[in-house]
Amino acid sequence: MRYLSLIILLFWQTAFASADYCDGDWGFFGHRRINRLAVFTLPQEMIPFFKKHIDYITDHSVDPDKRRYATRHEAVRHYIDLDIWGEAPYDNLPRDWTGVLACYSSIYAVTRGGDSIRIYKAGDFTEHAQEISMSYKRSAFDLDYSKYKAFFKEHIQPQYYEDDWTLDPQIFCDAFPYANICRSLESIVWVDEFSEHGILPYHLEWMQYRLTEAFRDKDEMRILRFATEIGHYIGDAHVPLHTTENYNGQLTNQDGIHAFWESRIPELFADDTYDFFVGPAEYVDDTRKYYWDAVLKSHSYVDTVLTIERKLRETFPVDLQFCYDERLGRVVRTQCREFAAAYSDALKGQVEERFRASIHALGSIWYTAWIDAGQPELMKAVEDVPVEMRDEERRKMLEAMYQRGEAKGRGHEN
Ligand SMILES: [Zn+2]
Repeated sequence: MRYLSLIILLFWQTAFASADYCDGDWGFFGHRRINRLAVFTLPQEMIPFFKKHIDYITDHSVDPDKRRYATRHEAVRHYIDLDIWGEAPYDNLPRDWTGVLACYSSIYAVTRGGDSIRIYKAGDFTEHAQEISMSYKRSAFDLDYSKYKAFFKEHIQPQYYEDDWTLDPQIFCDAFPYANICRSLESIVWVDEFSEHGILPYHLEWMQYRLTEAFRDKDEMRILRFATEIGHYIGDAHVPLHTTENYNGQLTNQDGIHAFWESRIPELFADDTYDFFVGPAEYVDDTRKYYWDAVLKSHSYVDTVLTIERKLRETFPVDLQFCYDERLGRVVRTQCREFAAAYSDALKGQVEERFRASIHALGSIWYTAWIDAGQPELMKAVEDVPVEMRDEERRKMLEAMYQRGEAKGRGHEN
């Protein structure tokens, strides 16, 4: 009898495991496809190297998600909760990393008696343009923003990965002598109130820098690693629900919508119906703006993503919304194909558009980093790879599209 209960329990757990297979972003499926297909947007000088390593670029596309469990600094790189910061286009968020951290970190003075008093409230810089007025006890003073930012960059930002950001008050007071607050202080403490809400576009810029440096050094391993990982974050930047506090519909009673939009729909329909030819990679003049445009565009879709699903659930037969599907040897509860198709149709190609935009953006960013690095020859990897773009894989894709009766293939003949 005990064994029977155990078997029933095991069956129960197996049969009704929730659809947690896609707790990544774009799911494994999407990230793998985006990284892989971006290779085909590249110019002749780059494609042999990337083609040679296409399996690495594909297989490691989800490494950043795996790391989320290893370090608390990783998770915040995958999203930005724009809506908590006000209204689009969020001009109150400085687009540079030092600027945004300086603006959105509070400063606390810790007295010898053990009290801590906030002397600067995160966000005040932006309200008062370039200056703020800080008050501590009876002394008030202005803090020149550009001077403060330089100070922050030198003394506080290097502590980013530390648990506490503290400073000897004397250093602060030497820099800002009119801040007559130091005599009674034990220390000054900075508190980051920005990062927990997501740093995605800032992290993209950092990855861009690292990738460019790797190309400059012709360091194959680093090129591969950063090219692969930036692909992950670029993919995330194109997902609307990676730009909102309501990232899984949890605030609007739509739990599970995250995986529905970014995993279930592409897995069901991408290979059969999406147009994967996105045209050749293009040089990006202003990568910072490019990343922000991607994130802001994703964010502009958040309303549609949520509203359409909510309306559909009200009208679609309830018993046809969820099905049981086998996945990696487990039975999971997930949206039925017909329900997913209805949602996808109602979104009018939105998922496909973001998918295609991710692929094109990734190719363009790889290309841009390579150009910025002075177009290094990627020769070591070339030998056994045909330079031709018309390789087996690409032929198969063309064939598949031909079979579907679609005349596609614009702009990929460079
Ligand atoms: Zn991610």
